Amino acid sequence: NNTKIAFFGLGNMGASMAKNLVSAGFQVSVYDLVEAQVKSLVDVGAIGADTPAQACEGAQIVISMLPAGKHVESLYFGPQGLVENIQANALFIDCSTIESNAAISIGRKLNDSGHRFVDAPVSGGVAGAAAGTLTFIVGGHEADFQQAKPVLENMGKNIFHAGAVGAGQVAKICNNMLLAILMAGTSEALQMAIDNGLDPKVMSDIMLQSSGRNWTLELYNPCPGVMETVPSSNNYQGGFMVDLMNKDLGLAMNTASQHNSVTPMGALAKSLFQLHGNAGNGKLDFSSIFKSFKH
Ligand code: NAD
Repeated sequence: NNTKIAFFGLGNMGASMAKNLVSAGFQVSVYDLVEAQVKSLVDVGAIGADTPAQACEGAQIVISMLPAGKHVESLYFGPQGLVENIQANALFIDCSTIESNAAISIGRKLNDSGHRFVDAPVSGGVAGAAAGTLTFIVGGHEADFQQAKPVLENMGKNIFHAGAVGAGQVAKICNNMLLAILMAGTSEALQMAIDNGLDPKVMSDIMLQSSGRNWTLELYNPCPGVMETVPSSNNYQGGFMVDLMNKDLGLAMNTASQHNSVTPMGALAKSLFQLHGNAGNGKLDFSSIFKSFKH
């Protein structure tokens, strides 16, 4: 495969995603602010870069997987930004979860500089990233979507075209608002069962075969010891940080206010996760919200 991809952001999600592109035979040059992250990707066959500009050499496609919109803005347009260093008419694919309006403005600025942009946030968590089974939710022009799709298919199983630039982020934020509600609700139900002497594993099995069934029970149980390979059974390390969920819930509330959407459940989830983050749990996985129901 002759396509060269410059990949930025090798954190909980990005490291596995970049690795899957290497396995698929792409030439992947990688850059992260944390040197050790770059090294771990070089060990599996990626080309390490010391600077963002170096990663751009010969690349036609950029993929970024960064915490928030400000990081994407500064990587693309800041001093030594990618926009100055990549070949003309490159396709930028941003997989981070960022504000929809920020994605729209980034897309416009890239177009003005002779490049193309799709927003392509993901769902599926760190396990989905590792297994290459992520869901990609893409916003952008049809032709750009068609170019991005065969690349994304090496990191994900379901690739959706949600609409114009920014639409991917709107869809993603609706999904994550629901995820936060489900994680808090599942935690609350499990703890009430425990408070009444039930075994959380048995209770989880019951709900999995009953009408309370949902993604958190299927793949991401918040109660330690119920599932082996999830963050809750690893002291809530790895996974999806509370700080990032709070960022997403903030984006959801902004999106709600734009068109007067009524989101009482989302607003409550935001307060619960904010309280939990402010209490010093920001770097833990978001399923640690379970701890706040314990007494
Ligand atoms: P993370 O904090 O683990 O990783 C982010 C990485 O970006 C870090 O390694 C950091 O050093 C790097 N970085 C920051 N600024 C940079 C820059 N200017 N240049 C290069 N590298 C830079 O975060 P994550 O969990 O991998 O999440 C990334 C994005 O994906 C976030 O927007 C998050 O909301 C979203 N997301 C995460 C999950 C999840 O389960 N973790 C699931 C879906 C979506």
